Amino acid sequence: RGIRSNFVPPVRSNGANTGGTTGSRVTGKTDDALEESTRRCLEMLCGPDGELPEKLRNLEPRLIEHVSNEIMDRDPNVRWGDIAGLEHAKKCVTEMVIWPLLRPDIFKGCRSPGRGLLLFGPPGTGKTMIGKAIAGEAKATFFYISASSLTSKWIGEGEKLVRALFGVACCRQPAVIFVDEIDSLLSQRKSEGEHESSRRLKTQFLIEMEGFDSGNEQILLLGATNRPQELDEAARRRLSKRLYIPLPPSEARAWIVRNLLEKDGLFKLSEEDTNAICRLTEGYSGSDMKNLVKDASMGPLREALCQGIEITNLRKEDMRPVLLQDFERALQEVRPSVSQHELGGYEDWNKQFGSLS
Ligand code: ADP
Repeated sequence: RGIRSNFVPPVRSNGANTGGTTGSRVTGKTDDALEESTRRCLEMLCGPDGELPEKLRNLEPRLIEHVSNEIMDRDPNVRWGDIAGLEHAKKCVTEMVIWPLLRPDIFKGCRSPGRGLLLFGPPGTGKTMIGKAIAGEAKATFFYISASSLTSKWIGEGEKLVRALFGVACCRQPAVIFVDEIDSLLSQRKSEGEHESSRRLKTQFLIEMEGFDSGNEQILLLGATNRPQELDEAARRRLSKRLYIPLPPSEARAWIVRNLLEKDGLFKLSEEDTNAICRLTEGYSGSDMKNLVKDASMGPLREALCQGIEITNLRKEDMRPVLLQDFERALQEVRPSVSQHELGGYEDWNKQFGSLS
């Protein structure tokens, strides 16, 4: 079996194992020797005729399996209601992505949506959450990949993994492919300095995007980046809608505090104290807020232990509620992760390339 020959799916048709005596392209073993888990995974991707879809036939089974098990998430379990603020982004995304995924019959011709969307802004502001919520709201399969893992972990194999990713997404439509740190994949060409393998990876990625852009596939590519300045012109063109995901304003920060504490039945802060926390957390990202709440919620526990109660004997009722003073202490530990200077950079890029309305 030559390197270019088709992979024969290791499934039984009419009771006979079609690939039983041939070697698989990857392992060189017979298909019978494919791991049970790989076999099962391929079977799930087979059409009603028991055949692996055309798109997947030349791909390595273990990469298909990796995409199915590690990258694909059937139930991302995030809803719009879990995301604080970002009303502008939610509105744009609903119109551009969710409605077209739910009603492809209406969104065609002039209304056909762009297939690439970029979410950019400081880290920890909810870009990944938006990706998951899109998949959740549109009942689409969610694929998450960090572009930097393609260049670091999958050295020399990134290209093949990208093909497997788009191949499996094609079989699991509607699909949302979320590429985190997309800048590390689609950064401006470093001409001479650029590694041959990363150039090939980028080309493969753009080819795959082009492929589904021109077809009828219901696949959305969602790129996220904290470094939009690094993206080159070709990447910007393909990610035609570019949404700025800024730091949460005061009300959104209050919402995050209340929501996280309420989940654990720990929210007892007065409105005045909540407002004080909001004033003190200017410049904090959503993820900074989450870390702050975590740290603050340790306050009552530490205090109870200081009073000599053994952790093994500690009852929940022995702990006082989380108070403003816990947040004041936690603020010494948890500092904002984004600088004013960085924010200026995002705002400038937004003015130049962002989708403002
Ligand atoms: P990003 O992808 O922008 O780096 P994430 O979406 O991964 O950030 O957010 C990291 C964590 O921070 C989330 O799991 C969530 O707990 C919290 N978070 C960030 N932004 C928000 C938000 N707008 N609303 C609620 N939680 C948020």
